[in-house]
Amino acid sequence: MSKVVVIDPGHGMPDPGACGNGLQEHERAFALAQLVGKVLTRHGVTVLFTRNGERSLSNATNLKTNKNEDLAARQRFSNSKATDFFLSLHMNSSDDSTSNGYETLCYSQNRQIEALHAAIKAFLQRHGLKDRGIKIRTNLAVLKVKAKAALLECFFISNPKEAALMKDAAFLLELAEAIGQGVLVAIGIAYVPVKKPETPPTQPKEEKKLMKTEDANKIIRILQDRWNASTCQDEKKEVGRLADEVRMAAGMKKVNI
Ligand SMILES: [Zn+2]
Repeated sequence: MSKVVVIDPGHGMPDPGACGNGLQEHERAFALAQLVGKVLTRHGVTVLFTRNGERSLSNATNLKTNKNEDLAARQRFSNSKATDFFLSLHMNSSDDSTSNGYETLCYSQNRQIEALHAAIKAFLQRHGLKDRGIKIRTNLAVLKVKAKAALLECFFISNPKEAALMKDAAFLLELAEAIGQGVLVAIGIAYVPVKKPETPPTQPKEEKKLMKTEDANKIIRILQDRWNASTCQDEKKEVGRLADEVRMAAGMKKVNI
């Protein structure tokens, strides 16, 4: 039976989550969730999303009620499935625009969480980004699910530099790959990197011929007769030059340098 991972893109309208630098947390979390999902399905994992659109899981109009119902629904969703891992994706925010980095939140630290964090840490190091570490949070509803669970705070939306990174498609793809790798290790599946498309061997460039060799030789013979018959040095030079032009057009070597 394939492993089941529930991916939980944080927030959802009417709750956009944190906003800043032209980004909304619910939207970036959703985009990242889709990419992580692809990494996992590539490895045969069954991926279930808590939300498949921009709406939260509650219809309540009161924001606070909506949020409470929404979180409870996410918890119920995960608990109703044979979930091996629950992955909640968020972005951090701070009043201080210089606050930066990534952190893994969990209810209790364990081997799976450490494996997940280690894969992302390698990504952070490659990009020179701050690792804020693994943090225990016992008050977050989505971390109280039955399955092993982690909530990833993927950089600060309030930090212009990090917001720009989260807007970058290539960065997001690489981050998703690192998160996917971490989840796979956590659930005991060997990660296989994406195969880069093989570049075809470069064909030797075919010289562009403007004239057939056969035709060129005919013209050259006529020019040679003219050259032999001529007694004027200037004319000989000019005929030689023309013969070389013909040779070049046929992809042959010049002889009158
Ligand atoms: Zn959030």
